[in-house]
Amino acid sequence: MRIGLVADVHSNLVALEAVLADLGMVDALWHLGDIVGYGPEPDAVVDRLAGLGATGVRGNHDAVAAGDAGAEWFNEDARAAIEWTREVIGPRTHAWLAALPERRVEGDFTLVHGSPRDPIWEYVTSRPVAAASFPAFSTDHCLHGHTHIPAVWREVDGAAPPASPHHGATVALDAGRTLLNPGSVGQPRDGDPRASYAVIDTEARTMTFRRVGYDIAATQAAMRRHRLPERLVLRLDHGY
Ligand code: ZN
Repeated sequence: MRIGLVADVHSNLVALEAVLADLGMVDALWHLGDIVGYGPEPDAVVDRLAGLGATGVRGNHDAVAAGDAGAEWFNEDARAAIEWTREVIGPRTHAWLAALPERRVEGDFTLVHGSPRDPIWEYVTSRPVAAASFPAFSTDHCLHGHTHIPAVWREVDGAAPPASPHHGATVALDAGRTLLNPGSVGQPRDGDPRASYAVIDTEARTMTFRRVGYDIAATQAAMRRHRLPERLVLRLDHGY
């Protein structure tokens, strides 16, 4: 089975379309939450993913947009964007976001947004957090997002600092347990502004990291039309 894996799309339809075109035919599409927030097209992104039958989990931005969590932990720009999102989304988007589970198991994979200990909010950014994450899931692998930085943490070496997977990097899935982060489609933060995603091949037992360029200016123009914070607009240029 060939599975497309996306995370942190953040209402960036132009980036999502570039990923879907680059991805080609797949047997399934999985997402790791933060479908909305920051970007300009929440309804269109949810419609697109729902139409493709994407399955996944909820992120912190999705929880706030659905009205199930407060925005008090958000910085000013994130809060302004999520408040705008909450106002503009239609009932279908709201219902789809509200129905997302915090965690889901698919075969050898546990899917969460943040971490298996705290699926909505915790960031896996350090060795101790990664090491503490392994006992919190029972499958071979845990797929997560939230940091917007692609990463591979391995249990076998005590969750050593993560490998920084570049475009085309492939991880063997039969070489021990891992925490795998495909990076962010809609707002990458590793210094590469291209959309980031991954492809899982369950027969070859691999996950491959991929980057694809998209029309950043088109997303920025849409953000400015909706008066979303300028700092959020500009960061897309740099991938920070
Ligand atoms: Zn996010």
